[in-house]
Amino acid sequence: MKIARFNSGRIGVITGDQITDVTKLCNVDPAEWPPVGPLRVIAEFETLKEKLEAAAKNGPSVPLSDVTLETPVPWPNKLIAYPVNYHDHAAEMTSTGLANIQGFFLKANSSIVGPSDAVVIPNIPGREIHHECEIGLIIGKECRNVSPEEALDHVFGFACLMDMTVRGKEERVMRKSYDTFTPIGPYIVTADEVADVADIEMKLWVDDELRQHANSRDLIVDMPNMVSIASSAMTLYPGDIIATGTPAGVDQIKPGETVTIEVEGIGRMSLPVVAGDSGANVVFDKPYEFKRGV
Ligand code: MN
Repeated sequence: MKIARFNSGRIGVITGDQITDVTKLCNVDPAEWPPVGPLRVIAEFETLKEKLEAAAKNGPSVPLSDVTLETPVPWPNKLIAYPVNYHDHAAEMTSTGLANIQGFFLKANSSIVGPSDAVVIPNIPGREIHHECEIGLIIGKECRNVSPEEALDHVFGFACLMDMTVRGKEERVMRKSYDTFTPIGPYIVTADEVADVADIEMKLWVDDELRQHANSRDLIVDMPNMVSIASSAMTLYPGDIIATGTPAGVDQIKPGETVTIEVEGIGRMSLPVVAGDSGANVVFDKPYEFKRGV
């Protein structure tokens, strides 16, 4: 099932090029703040599922092109990210801090935007802002200390995810947490529609140029182990999101460009890149020159 958020907080089920509004069925108040309705939809999905399927089948529905899609989970409890999780990206970064050695970090939840938003490039002279093409994994059930064998039972679904980054040596959290630095969308595809989490193709383009292309089979820490490792430290909650890591090909994005991500079987979204007028600070005063390893 494809679960979307649209038109200022409404919940929808997508079938082909149509979307059915299931906001009421899910008992979600679109105006609710904070917008945690999608977390309850995920937590209660087992009891909602049949009703949602029936609604999607029997309509009414409207063309997807008539609505504005929004990021599916705007207010997760956690946005977890695994660094350096593909060997070819480790090589280009000349990094030895592989995900299985370094572990995960957190990004600010407030960096999340959706498929109809723009990526705002902060005005930081001397710094490059890079795209990272990733698969977003969304947790479905509260869990702690799950084994890799049990991990996928706790996954709700997947989405396209971009992990935008100020290149440098400072704290990852700060470099990756600017507003708009984590586009996630265009909707969630539930896990039952993904045949093999270790065989998902993903691609990222800047304008028409293909910059990144990889398959999840090449992950250093695979998806079951990412869930397991995170849950060894923290209780994972429905709607928690894991940015699973980026392959080689990270590079600069600049205002005026369009960045497009496509994850096989999941979806595709394009976001314009625009110039922000702020964002500089003492931490990023010193210029940093990105030198690609290979
Ligand atoms: Mn990343």
